[in-house]
Amino acid sequence: MSASDSSNHPPRFIQTTAVQPDLDIAPGFASFSTPTYRGSTIVFRNLAELRAYGDASKTYWRYGLHATPTSEALCQQLAQIEGGRHTLLLPSGMGAISLVYFALLRSGDDVLVPDNVYGPNRDHGEWLAREYGVTVRYYHPSIGAGIEALIQPNTRLIWMEAPGSVTMEVPDCDAIVAAARARGVLTAIDNTWSAGVYFKPFDKGIDISVQALTKYQSGGSDVLMGAVITRDDKVHDRLKRTRMIMGWGVSADDCFLVLRGLASMPVRLAAHDRAAREVAEWLKQRPEVTRVLHPALPDCPGHAEWTRDFTGGGGLFSIILHDRYSREQVDAFVEALKLFAIGWSWGGAHSLAVPYHVDTMRPAGTWPPAGWENAGELVRLYIGLEDTRDLIGDLKQAMETQLR
Ligand SMILES: *Cc1c(COP(=O)(O)O)cnc(C)c1O
Repeated sequence: MSASDSSNHPPRFIQTTAVQPDLDIAPGFASFSTPTYRGSTIVFRNLAELRAYGDASKTYWRYGLHATPTSEALCQQLAQIEGGRHTLLLPSGMGAISLVYFALLRSGDDVLVPDNVYGPNRDHGEWLAREYGVTVRYYHPSIGAGIEALIQPNTRLIWMEAPGSVTMEVPDCDAIVAAARARGVLTAIDNTWSAGVYFKPFDKGIDISVQALTKYQSGGSDVLMGAVITRDDKVHDRLKRTRMIMGWGVSADDCFLVLRGLASMPVRLAAHDRAAREVAEWLKQRPEVTRVLHPALPDCPGHAEWTRDFTGGGGLFSIILHDRYSREQVDAFVEALKLFAIGWSWGGAHSLAVPYHVDTMRPAGTWPPAGWENAGELVRLYIGLEDTRDLIGDLKQAMETQLR
C-alpha cells in the first residue's frame, strides 16, 4: 500500500492522487495571454446549479462543447471588432456558412445567392436544393435595387459577399438590405475579405456576418475556424440552437491560436492593404494585364460602392491577363513565380497565386461583364508580408519569361 499523506485530507491511494492532486498554486499570476481552458465536463458546485439550466438560468457554463472562458474571450473580441453583439464559433469558415443555411431555411424556402459567391457556398446551396427541397437562385453581383424583383413570398435569406470571391465585384449592400428589410427577409454577408475591420455590416443593417477566421484572424495559415456574428438577440438564438443541436464546437487550443493572431490583425491588414495596392498599381501598367480587379481601383466593378462603404482593403485581388495568352501560358506564368506559392487559403504571411477558369464558375452567365476587351484568363493574387520590391521583381521575371 502506498498512500500519500502530505496534505490535510486522509491518506489516499496513488491512483486517487493522480486524478485529484492536492495542488497549491500561488495566486497572483498575471500574463497577457488568455488561459486555454480545455474542458468537456463542466463542474457544478451543487445539484441546484446543475439543474438550473434553462431560460432564466444564471448557470452560464454548461458543457465544454458550447462554451469555455477561452472560446468566450474569442467570441467577445470578434463581436467588438465587427460591431456585433454575439458570436458563434464553428470548425471552419465553411461550417459558419453551413450554420446560417441550416438555422434559417426549411424545405420549401427560397434563398438568393450572388453569382460570384465563394465556390463551396455555391456547392452547399446546390446540395440543399438537391437533397432538402430548398430553392436557390443566383443573382447578378451588381444587381443593386434590382434584387427587389427577385424576392418571392418564400424567400427567407439573401446572401451577400463583399467583394465576391475571385472576380471581386463589390455589391450595393445598401440597396440589397433596403429591399430585403422591406420584405422581411434576413440578410447574411460573407465578410471574410475585410475581416470585419474595413466593412461594418451591422451599421448597414445586415443581420448576419460570416468570417473565415482561418484567414486574417489566425494569420498563421495553420488553423481552421469560422464565426457567425450577429447584433440581434433573436437571430442569434436561432443560430445558437442549431449549432447546439448539430454538435458543432471548436477546440480551446485553436481558440488560443486565433486569439493570439487578433492583437496584430489590424496592423497586418494595413500592411497587406498598402502592399497589395502598390503591386496592383504596378500590374495596371503592364501590357500583359488588361484589368486589375482590386476594389480600390476603378477597373473593378463596384469600385464606387467600395469607396462608399469600406475604409480599407487587404491582400487579396485578381488580374485579368490579355486574351492573347493561352491557358497553358498562364499556368506556366503562375508556376514560374518563385515567391508566390500555389494554394487556396490566404490570410497568412505568404503570398499566393491561383489561376481560375471563371467561365466554368458562373452558370448564371454573368461573366465576363459586357464590353470588356481582350479579357483572358484570371489569376487571383494574395499579397503577403514579403517586401513588395521582391514580389514585383518575381511577377516581372515570370511575365517576361512566360508571357511573350
Ligand atoms: C476561405 C473562405 C471561406 C471558408 O473558410 P474555411 O475556414 O477555409 O472553410 C469562406 N468564405 C470566404 C470568402 C473564404 O475566403
